[in-house]
Amino acid sequence: MTPLSKLTEILSGLPGIGPRHAERLAYFISNKNETFFEDIERSLEEVRSQRKRCSECRAVFYIKDPKVDNCELCRDKNRNYEQLIFTDTEIKRNSIERSGIFNGRYFILGKTIPITDTSPSRMPVDDMMDRIKRSSDKGLKEIILTFSYTPEGEHTAEIIKKTIKDICKERDIKISVPGRGFSAGTEVEYSDTDTLRHAFNNRTFK
Ligand SMILES: [Zn+2]
Repeated sequence: MTPLSKLTEILSGLPGIGPRHAERLAYFISNKNETFFEDIERSLEEVRSQRKRCSECRAVFYIKDPKVDNCELCRDKNRNYEQLIFTDTEIKRNSIERSGIFNGRYFILGKTIPITDTSPSRMPVDDMMDRIKRSSDKGLKEIILTFSYTPEGEHTAEIIKKTIKDICKERDIKISVPGRGFSAGTEVEYSDTDTLRHAFNNRTFK
């Protein structure tokens, strides 16, 4: 395998990059100067060595101090424990954070569940239950399932709801989903603040 075809193969494994696009990128990179390679090597090395998974919300975060095992947001004492958002990516969390409409806490699943998959087997179920129990001990009242209004997003919310229903009932925690502020297919990460606020204010309880 040539260096170019190896690079093309790696790039085509990235989300949203098809084989043709990957080939174009591989040639683009091949034509860059030395500085570009030094920058990208340094950047990848920093990401590799400083990334961590938060012990509370499961988000990827970056820190040099090896003793810290939770992210800045989870360390923030000014955030309430009453509301917990379940969502699939750090990108969605960042959009919600930028809008400033939420001051609770998060749990990041890292993925959505394909519609063909009807069990939560590929979800971090143990971490999820642990997060609910620990949050409940600190006063959790509501879990907001914030996924995109796409078939896969709605399917994921449905599976999680089934999985956490019993523990939520037992501990008197409500389960809600943001209202239809988003039109069908809208991704949370592309929603503006007004749309997000509207969706959060019009939550439906499950
Ligand atoms: Zn965290």
